[in-house]
Amino acid sequence: MQALVQDYPLTVDSIFRRVERLFPDKTIVTGPPGAVTRTTYGEWAERVRRLGGLLDELGISADGRVGTFAWNSARHLELYFAAPSSGRILHTLNIRLFPEQLTYIANHAEDEVIFVDRSLLGLLWPLIDTMTTVQHVVVMDDSDAAVPDDPRIRNYEELLAAVAPVDFHVDDERRAAAMCYTSGTTGNPKGVVYSHRSTWLHSVAATTASCLSIREDDTVLPVVPMFHANAWGIAQAAPMAGANLVFPGRDMSPEAIGRLLQEEKVTVTAGVPTIWQGLLPLVDDLDLSSLRTLICGGSAVPAALSEAYREKTGKPILHAWGMTETHPLGSVSHVQSRDAGADDETLVAIRARQGTPMPGVELRIVETGSIDPLPWDDTATGELQVRGAWIAADYYKPDEGVELSTEDGWMRTGDVAAIDRYGSIRLVDRTKDLVKSGGEWISSVELENLLMGHPAVAEAAVIGVPHPKWDERPLACVVVKDGESVTAEELLDFLRPKVAKWWLPDAVEFIDEVPKTSVGKFSKKDLRGKFADYTFAD
Ligand code: AMP
Repeated sequence: MQALVQDYPLTVDSIFRRVERLFPDKTIVTGPPGAVTRTTYGEWAERVRRLGGLLDELGISADGRVGTFAWNSARHLELYFAAPSSGRILHTLNIRLFPEQLTYIANHAEDEVIFVDRSLLGLLWPLIDTMTTVQHVVVMDDSDAAVPDDPRIRNYEELLAAVAPVDFHVDDERRAAAMCYTSGTTGNPKGVVYSHRSTWLHSVAATTASCLSIREDDTVLPVVPMFHANAWGIAQAAPMAGANLVFPGRDMSPEAIGRLLQEEKVTVTAGVPTIWQGLLPLVDDLDLSSLRTLICGGSAVPAALSEAYREKTGKPILHAWGMTETHPLGSVSHVQSRDAGADDETLVAIRARQGTPMPGVELRIVETGSIDPLPWDDTATGELQVRGAWIAADYYKPDEGVELSTEDGWMRTGDVAAIDRYGSIRLVDRTKDLVKSGGEWISSVELENLLMGHPAVAEAAVIGVPHPKWDERPLACVVVKDGESVTAEELLDFLRPKVAKWWLPDAVEFIDEVPKTSVGKFSKKDLRGKFADYTFAD
């Protein structure tokens, strides 16, 4: 029997039309605070249609890659919708990557045009001759930074004013809509391509109560950059829901984020743990009473951080897990009804978990090299593998030997996890970050979370250091909070009752800062580099 429903294409232009028709009065604010610009979805939609016309005028191919090199802003959101709605592919370049990586990525994706914030032009322009497919650089005025005199450089506002709005019709939901690159610890950056269909489905799922619960009456501030997996999908999900949006613009300091949260009465916000760690000292002086949900992911959320927010704001952090390869949302840790009356200790432990998969995602854990699922008993640990409606099947033009999926179609995450009987993930580590000691594994993430529970510790990262007898042993690298002091022995005494004896780090090194990746996570790769010649004292 045939299905009797319409075969409605799940495309980004259908999200666009919804926002344009249903929510024209809802607002988009772009920082920095004190100099914010305000627009409505109605005004934005008219510009998105013009931008579609502009891409035609610039001669961008029917499926051409439209690069962006930009902060979170209303203009960036115009590109988010105009590129895919006109059949092109949005390619968000990470502004914090090294020059060689940017060149590699722009060439690998074959970007035809790059839209760049004027405040960032100084970073991009020196590379432009190495980006062999880029024909135009369109500058978006977010500052009065200098602009070189070159015929390839055009001004966004001038071009936009001169074109007519166009209609959008993407019929094939399986067309590519957007792409992002992820840079791992080894090899070249890897491209992940999202389709219209996967974007649509991910957006719907993200708005649901079992995920981020974004509603029409929300005001959403994604601190997570729009170049980090589409701001975790919020850049499409929030407009789809009709929520107001607040973008930080070029000032990402904790002070600016704090002011925007307060002044714009933000209800939902999202960022990696380092963002919320940075804001924490300011929270007592802010009125965050409008805030309903503070989403955190991208790295394990230390229980101490979540608890600090709960104590100060009354709201714990909502912990989410995902990857660029998973669009990126995969799971969210909501306290479920069976735990509603649980004691504090249980609730803290639940919030430290990565949570249950959202509808549209399935999980399993397997032993390395096997495809047989391990039990969901919260004890067995193995590689986390996922499949679902927005999970990448493969990388874009992958390098020789790079395979994302198993032979039976599950995506390898490279994360090691346990799953409890209710399907909630507890992430133990990245495969590459586990400390291999005497044939057993030590979770660097768990040691870090415990150390960050010490009142004098601001940041802690644990790495494995080669050891003649045990293969590797853990080294704890600790940043002490301003005005506090603590000794290595005191930290080890703090850990002793909480972990197995053989898990105790062999040494603690005090450092000024844990190096961060381009998206603000702890960079174990850089830390390992820093301690490459380290030997433990006898
Ligand atoms: P990216 O593609 O840059 O977002 O990195 C994805 C990786 O970040 C995942 O494979 C995890 O190792 C890590 N990650 C993301 N969310 C979490 C989380 N909530 N807890 C622990 N690790 C996380």
